[in-house]
Amino acid sequence: PPFADAGWRLEHSYAQLPTLFHSLAKPTSVASPRLTIFNQDLAQELGLNAEVLDRPEAAALFTGNELPPGAYPIAQAYAGHQFGKFTTLGDGRAILLGEQITPSGARFDIQLKGPGPTRYSRRGDGRAALGPMLREYIISEAMYALRIPTTRSLAVATTGEAVYRPQPLPGAVLTRVAASHIRVGTFEWAAAHQNKAALKALADYTLARHDPALVGEESPYLAWLHSIIGRQASLIAQWLHVGFIHGVMNTDNMALSGETIDYGPCAFMDAYDPGTVFSSIDHHGRYAYGNQAPIAQWNLARLAEALLPLLHPEEKQAIEQANAALESFRSRFDTAWLAGMRKKLGIFNEEAEDKALADALLSWMQEQEADYTQTFCALSSRDGVKSHLTNDASFSDWLAQWKARLTRQPQSAADVTPLMQAHNPAFIPRNHKVEEALTAAMQNEDLSVMQRLLQVLAKPYDHSVDLPEYSQPQPAEDYQTFCGT
Ligand code: AMP
Ligand code: MG
Ligand code: MG
Repeated sequence: PPFADAGWRLEHSYAQLPTLFHSLAKPTSVASPRLTIFNQDLAQELGLNAEVLDRPEAAALFTGNELPPGAYPIAQAYAGHQFGKFTTLGDGRAILLGEQITPSGARFDIQLKGPGPTRYSRRGDGRAALGPMLREYIISEAMYALRIPTTRSLAVATTGEAVYRPQPLPGAVLTRVAASHIRVGTFEWAAAHQNKAALKALADYTLARHDPALVGEESPYLAWLHSIIGRQASLIAQWLHVGFIHGVMNTDNMALSGETIDYGPCAFMDAYDPGTVFSSIDHHGRYAYGNQAPIAQWNLARLAEALLPLLHPEEKQAIEQANAALESFRSRFDTAWLAGMRKKLGIFNEEAEDKALADALLSWMQEQEADYTQTFCALSSRDGVKSHLTNDASFSDWLAQWKARLTRQPQSAADVTPLMQAHNPAFIPRNHKVEEALTAAMQNEDLSVMQRLLQVLAKPYDHSVDLPEYSQPQPAEDYQTFCGT
């Protein structure tokens, strides 16, 4: 078989679940596959041979024209709440090839996004456009470098065919790598079928895959729900720390693994404002920056509802346990958020007033429409805070409080700077830089701009280089990403 020597070690544990959860799905051949970008580092981590795969011929693999040895292609079934409304979905434009077992024994889904229709496509064409797939590649790899749990991107290949959105756009397939693609919506799908045996099979499978330490617990499903809630609380806190806005936090876009998944109309915030929304279809700000924690909790409530039959034989007690677990979200989120904010502010120990100190800075940023990332960068700077901040009277009060706070810990300034620089990125995927990279790739087939951007984003916490072109926001203009993917 082609690419037999590429290091593929595919297993299919998910496909052994009841057929309610998947169906066979063959990628549809495309006219002329071409490899646009390939992730050598990720290939290596997966135990794949980057030399064999980073070749023009491998485009056949990354569009689905050929399958890697041992592949068993399926589409996964799921439901979900989209903008609050329940609906049945499934992989309408994604096909799972299998689970790659890495040299260290880890298991990662290898999924093609955009390989043609599946049983769940409904009216969709099962396809993806090049721009959004390159965008997912950039943002997901940036999130990984920021040390935030995320799916990753192994390759993007063009199909040589147009997709209509409704204007013709170049078609492409993204190869997505994930701890798994099991979503809150996968459990909603099981619950909607009122099939307790299938629900239990899915829960046992997911628990063993992502929380193996909980297998054999006395109340495994309840312990597991607590664990999932903790992971999501931590994930959302990490998003907020870097100014990330997911954009479409529907329950089908929330992974049980705790990874960030499904990069659609997502973006990083420039000026601090909790009301920031980027998605053109999010008219009511449901998925605004500052609404992400309550929305995560809402999504987890949908998961808990689906799990009720497993939590306790008495429904009343099941509901009580689920509610207690859900109520813990807020405090777990607050704790994770404050712990991260202390690091962003160079604070090692804990004082009761730390939250107020962080909140006061954020209020100032909101009033001044200060850039979120750059403000923290300026505070972390080795040369001390720049004059444009210190000259501002409304800021100097806060600055004095913060400096006093830093004296009430045993660590010295020499310890504070590295802590802050390790938690305040110098480089995030700035919207105008992402657009610039996509434009060069699409209009001139020039990937060098994107490659250079990826290089910078691979070291987001490197404060030793001065690259204002990459660190500064674009002069203000409303930025929207579009869902027409
Ligand atoms: P998303 O908004 O990307 O999370 O997708 C929501 C649902 O729509 C998922 O079930 C997708 O598989 C499906 N979907 C999105 N785009 C297409 C497409 N072009 N063809 C078929 N299904 C699609
Ligand atoms: Mg989705
Ligand atoms: Mg999507």
